[in-house]
Amino acid sequence: MAPLDGWCTSLDEVPDEVFAGRMLGDGLAIDPTNGIVCAPCDGQIVTLPNSGHAVSIRGAQGIEVLIHIGIDTVQLAGRGFEARVKPGAQVRAGEELIRFDLNRVARAAKSLITPVVVTLDGAVLNSRRGSGPVKAGELLFEIGDTPPQSPAPSKEPQPAAAAGPPQHAITVTLPQGLHARPAALLARRAKAIGVPIILSAHGRESDARSVVGIMALGVRNGDQLLIRSQGCALPDAVAAVVAGLEEAQRLDAAHSPPRAVSTAAPERSNSSARAPKPGEMAGVCAVPGFAVGRAVRIERREIEVTEQGQGGMHEKAELDRARANVKLRLERMRNAGGAERQEIIGAHLEFLDDPVLNESAAEFISQGKSAGFAWRGATRRSISALQALEDSRLRERADDLMDVESHVLLALAGEARPLHLPLPEQAVLLADDLLPSELTALDRRRLAGIALSGGGATSHVAILAAAMEIPMLIGLGAALRGVGEGQSVILDADNGQLNYAPAADTLRQANLLVESRRARRAALRTAAAQECRSRDGTRVEVFANVGSTGDALAGVENGAEGCGLLRTEFLFIDRDTAPSEEEQLTAYQSVANALGGRPLILRMMDVGGDKPLRYLPLPAEPNPALGLRGVRTALSHPELMRTQLRAALRVTPRGITRLLIPMVTDRSEVLEVRQVVEQLARELKLDAPILLGAMIETPAAALTAATLLREVDFLSIGSNDLTQYALAMDRGHAALARRTDALHPAVLQLIAAAGGAGEAAGKLVAVCGGVAADRSAVPILLGLGVRELSVVPAAIPAVKHQIGELTITDCQAIAQRCLDLGSAAEVRSLVEQHIGHAGEDS
Ligand code: PEP
Ligand code: MG
Repeated sequence: MAPLDGWCTSLDEVPDEVFAGRMLGDGLAIDPTNGIVCAPCDGQIVTLPNSGHAVSIRGAQGIEVLIHIGIDTVQLAGRGFEARVKPGAQVRAGEELIRFDLNRVARAAKSLITPVVVTLDGAVLNSRRGSGPVKAGELLFEIGDTPPQSPAPSKEPQPAAAAGPPQHAITVTLPQGLHARPAALLARRAKAIGVPIILSAHGRESDARSVVGIMALGVRNGDQLLIRSQGCALPDAVAAVVAGLEEAQRLDAAHSPPRAVSTAAPERSNSSARAPKPGEMAGVCAVPGFAVGRAVRIERREIEVTEQGQGGMHEKAELDRARANVKLRLERMRNAGGAERQEIIGAHLEFLDDPVLNESAAEFISQGKSAGFAWRGATRRSISALQALEDSRLRERADDLMDVESHVLLALAGEARPLHLPLPEQAVLLADDLLPSELTALDRRRLAGIALSGGGATSHVAILAAAMEIPMLIGLGAALRGVGEGQSVILDADNGQLNYAPAADTLRQANLLVESRRARRAALRTAAAQECRSRDGTRVEVFANVGSTGDALAGVENGAEGCGLLRTEFLFIDRDTAPSEEEQLTAYQSVANALGGRPLILRMMDVGGDKPLRYLPLPAEPNPALGLRGVRTALSHPELMRTQLRAALRVTPRGITRLLIPMVTDRSEVLEVRQVVEQLARELKLDAPILLGAMIETPAAALTAATLLREVDFLSIGSNDLTQYALAMDRGHAALARRTDALHPAVLQLIAAAGGAGEAAGKLVAVCGGVAADRSAVPILLGLGVRELSVVPAAIPAVKHQIGELTITDCQAIAQRCLDLGSAAEVRSLVEQHIGHAGEDS
């Protein structure tokens, strides 16, 4: 029986792969409308943790049912929950088990949606309730026979499925089938074998090296996959595929990414929570929230390509150049973005190198077609294969391919951005669908909401919209096209409704509601405008990481006390000539103006290595991450360095700019830069001293921090690179992504070395890598002596709030314990136990 009142829906709607993928078992989910959880059947309480956020009950024939209130609610550590029974208790169906504060938990949790699952593999559920309102005590489902479990992937040879070349069959046991991540892992294994491995399922075939091709097979949990090899022994091919699948299984099981810091937790997550009234249309909530605004329609413009090429060699070179440019830009964006953006761009990078796409483009070129025509032809082939699949998650990946298509076509046409749509204030964007890059090209400050005729709740554009906190409704259907441009609309994503003809009174009420929500957010931001101190009064600066003037403005709006890292590379890459001193000055001055007199820490260009510049004769790097990059490039091109430093030193008001040197390895590099800076300062007749900092990104710099501090005024720890170099794990390596964790004790010891050196020298040590915005890391960093955190603008209010709740003494105690642990996972679990997630629900 339903354990609570609410809206019954499928587990597919749960924003957590563990439940949506049935990894814990089959069942249904309820988006609750009250906070009382009752027993779904007679039985014994098996588990009811102290946190009170979940309960499992064992009923007849030993069948267990788990009720998990909301998503990621374990992190509330019991706040807002009250258990009404104890583990071991015998209860009757309908008896009260847990009470929880609906509003409090809704504010703090990722979602309130509550899965109710039978934790028995293969349990068959009958008489399932459909989507709609449900009351506690009403029938949810019946549990029928339980068939034997499906076998794990087998390495043993299976009989060939058909006559012809020998092949092996294995059964795929991945709860979500061969979706993008397992496809990528499998493709990587197959590429390593070096000869084609052919996979087939459902009468379709693919080269195992192609992520797109594998996804297009449409393999779901329990499906058979046939493996055939061309050029290697069949057992080797089978072993590679099985190894890829096993790795995917492990990763899927461990896939619970650290929570990104969010400034405002969504109020509710729901889908079409009530029937539409006249003048409304119903959709599905992809990002919760509420917005009022004017409808603005975007139509995707097809990028024009000519069909005929100018010779195979020329077109191939053009396509290679465009792909290389897009790759560079995407890699920069990935490295600079938040977790969501990183994952999405990582997928796009895979597509860019996909052998099936590239072979198919080469085929078009060999038929005399242009690079653009060939690339579009190749992507469209794969897109139609994906769109034909039943699995909605795989169909949604077609949008990503479309995005990669437009990136490359635009690069061929010499343009960088896919869309320049001037938005009015409070725009509610209406479209058939939207690509991730189209969304990120829009002015966030003018965008109130998004309504799509199509779209998917798990699409990458929905993930990005959530990160940008833009309410979004999808699946509104063709009727959305009837909404007039400029029409006032109310987008109630919480309730899955778009009101396209609101009465004056309704509109007034809705505006009042928007206003009161805005006031609440503003209160949080106002609090963030205060100078940041720990609970015991230690000053900790919270700065913004910036890559553009827009970022600087967003940083200041969110309470940044300065810019802790201006990534200046954006000015240098993806162009044919170096930026002039004047061009650089204009760009830096614009950021400084946005900061309104706050300090600007300008990092010297971190280029070279994996970011080659077309206008510099840099050698090809066999090991780009270990090659000529950062300050090494600057010192080997003194004119380029001098031009940048001159522009930086001319920024006004004088004295706000501090210079930061990337990828430092030893003192001589710092001395060389200092000499140039001093000479330029004399030329420019600057009398105030220029503050110079060294980035701690190599273990060498961390271990010699005390020596470096004799030459510089501050240190800034680039944890992204420091982690990569300390752990010998490429920071962009998808299969190592979960392990490339800056909370590894080895990385912490390096941070401790830098922090200790800073304290001894009485000089500031900052962190500007991604770890600075990680809730679990903040107490450790403060405990290791860090006194400035530079984070993405949206994370600032939450980071400031968290610091205000911590005492440095507690932070020091916990940090010391972390240094002695054996893995990043142990560190995370220790921090969670001892410090918890205080302040998250505010
Ligand atoms: C870092 O390495 O942590 C850093 C801030 O620099 P980037 O991410 O730009 O390499
Ligand atoms: Mg770096």
